[in-house]
Amino acid sequence: MTFDAVILNSHVVLPSGTVDKNIVMDEGKIVSLTNDTPQCDTKIDGRGLVALPGVIDPHVHYGVYSPIEQAAVTESRVAAVGGITTMMRMLRLGGSYKRNLDSHLIESARSHYVDYSIHASILEESQVDEMEFCTKKGITSFKLYMNLGDEVGHVYMDMKPGKNLLVEQKVEVNEKIVERVIYNASRLGCTVLVHAEDYQMCSCGIREAKHNNKNGLGAWSESRPAESEVKSITTASDMARKAGCRLYFVHIGSQAAMDAISREKKNGTTIFVETCPHYLTLSYESQKGYLAKVMPPIRSVNDTARIWQEVQSNNVDTIGTDHVANRLGLKLGGDTVWDALAGFPGIGTMMPILLSEGVNKGRITLQQLSNLTSLNTAKIFGMYPKKGIIQKGSDADIVLVDMKAEKKVSPELLSGYSDYTVYDGWNLKGWPVKTLVRGTVVAEDFKVIEKPGYGKFIQRPVSA
Ligand SMILES: [Zn+2]
Repeated sequence: MTFDAVILNSHVVLPSGTVDKNIVMDEGKIVSLTNDTPQCDTKIDGRGLVALPGVIDPHVHYGVYSPIEQAAVTESRVAAVGGITTMMRMLRLGGSYKRNLDSHLIESARSHYVDYSIHASILEESQVDEMEFCTKKGITSFKLYMNLGDEVGHVYMDMKPGKNLLVEQKVEVNEKIVERVIYNASRLGCTVLVHAEDYQMCSCGIREAKHNNKNGLGAWSESRPAESEVKSITTASDMARKAGCRLYFVHIGSQAAMDAISREKKNGTTIFVETCPHYLTLSYESQKGYLAKVMPPIRSVNDTARIWQEVQSNNVDTIGTDHVANRLGLKLGGDTVWDALAGFPGIGTMMPILLSEGVNKGRITLQQLSNLTSLNTAKIFGMYPKKGIIQKGSDADIVLVDMKAEKKVSPELLSGYSDYTVYDGWNLKGWPVKTLVRGTVVAEDFKVIEKPGYGKFIQRPVSA
């Protein structure tokens, strides 16, 4: 019998440890881990590289500043180069999902290099009643933006497919919507993703900071205090505990938020925690200019140290990028931090940052890295064991990384839509060099090989 392909001579990262085995693949799946070399059409020399389960990025914004048929091509290209084999889109639509979802699914199907899945944002009350419809389309997780309302309720929605036109909308995710989404998700067996910042506290903080002519990333952090994260965490956790709903707090990056979550877990709420590479590497003390403006803000050096500790103690479940595919021209709108756009690209730098700052600096092990970037994410979002692990029967989603490769970060290296990166000039050690999705090499040495449209939509079941 002849199989499609085999990866030879790599160190394979499994949940139980690293083994030196050959990975045999056929029809997109892993068929065995073996010491033999079976008959295969293609032999991939692993050259002593590390084989990790393909990275799942649970948190990606694309389709906001360029329409999805373009954004999926550019951003999944960077994803592939960066070792990501499944990207999860934070879909943000106004109006009816029943009316507007299909055009996004159709355009998405022909434009991704890697596999993708979708979280649906619920921004208006009428959308709560469409959550069940979304689950039938394989979208079984929902995002709540508790930061949106009042004076800080303006947000760019996803563009209409085929139309390169920014769509601004004013929304108010009040407690009534939050409660209805949580109860409905519990009934449907879905997980709720929460952006935990209290819009009233943030509105007030920003008004005050502007009034006092404050500026800079320190002022940005002060205007959206960690206490506003704590308030939202407490409110959502109370509701989820009563409703029996699973919560997933996105982009946690402050000590106060971690403390609040630990308290709520002890109270009995089922909570998962995501952090992002920037909360592990950037602080308002270390960053000049406004490029690193993001919500919630990057905090102090002490906060980054604390988030590393929480990662090391396995109190953080996943790492997502919160990637925003925007460009410098739009990002820096004026002279102050208040004029700049929040959010920046990160999907191409997640793995090199974590390999360099995490594994190579001895802060985390390869097992921890693979749990945080693949296994846990697949389990939480209903993709395990299809995704998230290198084992017989799973999709052959694999990233080969070179732990010794050193390179300087630049936007050109990453070749996405964005013309900047907050890590510009960083010299990182440890890079993905080959990315396989379902047994096919989609990217190699910073170039994509496959065609857009290879990536498949991963529909997810509800949990029991
Ligand atoms: Zn986000």
